[in-house]
Amino acid sequence: MILSFPNMGPNWVAFKTLFEALDPSIKVILPDPTNREAIKVGVKYSPEFVCFPFKATLGDFVNVIKKGADTLVMAIDCGPCRFGFYHAVQERLLHDMGYKNVRLIPLDQADLLEFHWVKTLQEVSGKSGLFSYPKFVKAVIFFLKKAKLLQDIQTAEGLFRAYERNQGDTTDVLNNILIKLDQTNTLKELRNFKKVIKEDFNKIDVDKTRTPLRVAIFGEIHISLEPYVNVDIRRKLGEMGVEIHQNLSLWDWVSHKFHLNFHRRWLEHLSHPYVPMDIGGECQWVLGEYIDRAKSGFSGACHVYPFTCMPEVTARTIITNKLKKMYDLPIIFFSFDENYSYEGMRTRLEAFVDLIESRRKHKLGIERISYEEEKNNFYKSNGSHFFQECIQLIQT
Ligand code: SF4
Repeated sequence: MILSFPNMGPNWVAFKTLFEALDPSIKVILPDPTNREAIKVGVKYSPEFVCFPFKATLGDFVNVIKKGADTLVMAIDCGPCRFGFYHAVQERLLHDMGYKNVRLIPLDQADLLEFHWVKTLQEVSGKSGLFSYPKFVKAVIFFLKKAKLLQDIQTAEGLFRAYERNQGDTTDVLNNILIKLDQTNTLKELRNFKKVIKEDFNKIDVDKTRTPLRVAIFGEIHISLEPYVNVDIRRKLGEMGVEIHQNLSLWDWVSHKFHLNFHRRWLEHLSHPYVPMDIGGECQWVLGEYIDRAKSGFSGACHVYPFTCMPEVTARTIITNKLKKMYDLPIIFFSFDENYSYEGMRTRLEAFVDLIESRRKHKLGIERISYEEEKNNFYKSNGSHFFQECIQLIQT
């Protein structure tokens, strides 16, 4: 079996481990990083009105089929938006395109405590007996550990890039560390990997006197996590000297689906007066994040989503018409599709950064607080334990 799955940023590291550890006879191949060609193919064969992530992932599938994949895994949800239909429609399209022998396996992640995913993994490995149990447990543990470490890497990257003296250093460390994490295949090494992350990021030459602006990025999961489709917005903003905070990650999503993500519960509580239920995408959590970040001293927020995404457009409308009048947090919206150009985005990002910088200057002038003081106050009251450890590295 030659198995693959679509791109979603650095999360290939966790999914590759999951399937390889499940059964050594499974050969996992990765799609090329999403590119213009893959998008063109996805757009050509997809219904015109369908969501952009559908088109991008279809393009990835065609790419890996041409490289020899015969089994594709696609996450599915119970809806309530179009995500519930991706797998079935994509399989039909691939068969119509002539790839009749390709199997598309749906990985149900609607509620991970219903354990449908166990059956799926057993189907993939072709084994369900007692003897396959240790391998199964190992695969799941490795997947979860790598997903958590990927979140830590994302945290460090968002912080260090704002302080790097030589543009590109953080990106180099990031690319190297992903390869290292991919090659880490014992539990002992995984336990120590946080140390490796800190050591590697600590090698970056930083200017600790900087007082970066702090921007939170949130939105639809595929657009938020896949750099090609979001025109690498984290890097672009980071290289403008902005510190990036992003809760959304594979780990954030999986722990939510295991009902263990209390931060998401908090965001649901905040958004409840405006959207009292899950309407798909990240709508509820986007609203919660906007409110939460506004109360936590952030300089700005950035909402990214696919063009025509119903739940995210709903969130945008509520933020624009309601929340922006109640909370003092500037926000910029980016809706991406296959026609998005970097030039337009760069101009808007530069204007946004100028705006939030002048707002900060004005505010601190009125409050008679220095930039340094404001930065320290922010760091004292925000961020995970790992974020605080990274701050220590920068400041010492
Ligand atoms: S969240 Fe948006 S982009 Fe994703 S499937 Fe639903 S409607 Fe489409």
